[in-house]
Amino acid sequence: MEIREIECKTALSHSGLSELDYSLNPYRGCAHACLYCYAPAMTYEERRWGSFVDVKINVAQVLEQETKTKKRGVVGLGTVTDAYQPLEEKYKITRACLEVLAKRHWPVCIQTKSALVLRDIDILQKMDCEVGLTITAIDDSVRMAFEPGASSAGDRLSALEKLAAAGIRTFAFIGPILPYLTDKNADLEKLISSLADAKVGYVMADRFRVKPGLMECVEPVLRENYPQFADKWKAALKPESKYFDSVISEIGRLCAKYKIPFLDKHPFKIVETDSKQATLF
Ligand code: SF4
Repeated sequence: MEIREIECKTALSHSGLSELDYSLNPYRGCAHACLYCYAPAMTYEERRWGSFVDVKINVAQVLEQETKTKKRGVVGLGTVTDAYQPLEEKYKITRACLEVLAKRHWPVCIQTKSALVLRDIDILQKMDCEVGLTITAIDDSVRMAFEPGASSAGDRLSALEKLAAAGIRTFAFIGPILPYLTDKNADLEKLISSLADAKVGYVMADRFRVKPGLMECVEPVLRENYPQFADKWKAALKPESKYFDSVISEIGRLCAKYKIPFLDKHPFKIVETDSKQATLF
């Protein structure tokens, strides 16, 4: 793993997602090394994803300055990296960014695959925030094959439970749906019932999206670990396939059964009540 400490010029960038105003990425690259990661396509990164991490050592200082001049808005923390990847334990850069945002009363939406987020419960409890854990499959052997550097599915479920118990709004993102793995046997129902036990605030799901160069990473691992599904993946990924529609509708049905809201996007919205205060829904 190549690790570099770099200085950044900007911290907040405009978010392409309608429910987020800004993106904040304390690292470039991600040691979670998910095979299906969309970030390389979004960042035009040519280095092999998962083989490097650039640590933006001054990002909290830059953020402090930017929050003095930019219009307050919802910050998506970790949109093309995971803000709680293993290096965060040493660098505490995400934590420093949270301290800045908490001080300025900026709302935050975090999505991670790491139980390390629990370390920052003390700050998160004081903020307008929402924390989501991505879980692609409840069977941890799928995580080991497809998301080798991330926390186990069990640790992510436990993190959701602890966050909710601490009074923090939570959500679970089931995505990208890995054909015949996310929904293997009765795994989908096990996952949704575990999310209900963890008192997750809501669930979102998304299909697997094929980006340039992605299948070159995924296919060898799929063929080695799940050869029985390799051809079925090809059929499921065809544009005319209804496979993902049926899995998403099954997730919706199970969420209804276990009484968890199933949403198609984050409900984060700020309503300005006066120039200094805002209420979050
Ligand atoms: S955790 Fe997210 S950013 Fe990191 S490799 Fe996985 S999908 Fe990509």
